[in-house]
Amino acid sequence: MENELWSDEATCGRCNRKLKDALSIERGYGPRCWEKVREEQDQEGES
Ligand SMILES: [Zn+2]
Repeated sequence: MENELWSDEATCGRCNRKLKDALSIERGYGPRCWEKVREEQDQEGES
């Protein structure tokens, strides 16, 4: 019950895990999922 700060409800938009660091929360994805999301965006942008 000590870690319930602002990150309480922040979850990854891809795997739904809780996000703990500010950067991930800002992105809305955990580090690994963020890589995947970026890969997918790259592929889509390159038609
Ligand atoms: Zn994730």
